[in-house]
Amino acid sequence: MVVLAVHGGAGGDGPWRGMTEADPQRLNCMHSLLSDIGARLESGALSALEAVTQAVEIMEDEALFNAGRGSVLDASGAITMDASIMRGEDQAAGAVVGVSKARHPIRIAYHLLKGGWPVMLNGEAADAYGLTKGLEMVDPTWLVTELRQAQWAKWKANKSAPGSTDEDDGAVLDHDGMGTVGAVALDRDGKLAAATSTGGMTGKPDGRIGDTPIIGAGTWADRNVAVSCTGVGEAFIRTCAARSLAAYHDRESLVASGKRVLDEVAPYGGRGGLIAVNADGELIVPFQTMLMYRGTYVNGAIEVGIGPETYDELSSVSS
Ligand code: ASP
Repeated sequence: MVVLAVHGGAGGDGPWRGMTEADPQRLNCMHSLLSDIGARLESGALSALEAVTQAVEIMEDEALFNAGRGSVLDASGAITMDASIMRGEDQAAGAVVGVSKARHPIRIAYHLLKGGWPVMLNGEAADAYGLTKGLEMVDPTWLVTELRQAQWAKWKANKSAPGSTDEDDGAVLDHDGMGTVGAVALDRDGKLAAATSTGGMTGKPDGRIGDTPIIGAGTWADRNVAVSCTGVGEAFIRTCAARSLAAYHDRESLVASGKRVLDEVAPYGGRGGLIAVNADGELIVPFQTMLMYRGTYVNGAIEVGIGPETYDELSSVSS
């Protein structure tokens, strides 16, 4: 059996208020990548590691998610991106923090994983490492979209807390910004992998690092389970959220473990969600926020969702 799951970030308070105009595009992105990468995972053409990397790359390219192009802007109005990846069979890992030129930060993390040492690089050195691997670098202005500039301007005008406009559901600004992306997969050989990528939170202070690039906090994979988290990163760091899920799952069900992790982040101001798959092909996509963009591929069946509902046919989706 093969499984692929993706998320496009969790956030928002209160009851689900329905889709914005931009949401069908996000669902469409997830649906089409699940169909393509899922089929190649199923045929054995892709390993779990390659599948999660490609899934995240596609979401980094979709400007409506908060990763790669379309990342949120920091306090100074610039984009810095974080990403990490982990392979379950040997717990090999790679991570980058604060990159600003790579089109696909997750692919730099992938090359770090493949290289074996070091696990983590930051800033310009991480971009430079990507260049040595032949990866595409872009003008940082190419990463910036009008939507993110508008969210940032609103954040600045309101002197809001970092991340506040990420969950803005106003008619002008759409209800996105959370938009961190992630993927977990189980391949035909029973191997697991997880990957996560983000621009962080709107208005984050210079140098701030969230949970996304931190192995054990935002991303984890071992022989038993693969996990990718999204939400207020500081709480996921303080609870070692992704690794905690793996530890709990040694003793209890995947569902119970996921719930325990989200219950643990809550008292630290951490609201969010996660996706996880285990070596038996069980899958969970829990979230405690208003929404979590998410999609799953299980043995050829695809489902995508944002709020409480999921859709297996995109023709049933209306904005
Ligand atoms: N976890 C990410 C961070 O704190 C943000 C998110 O998932 O929305 O940088």
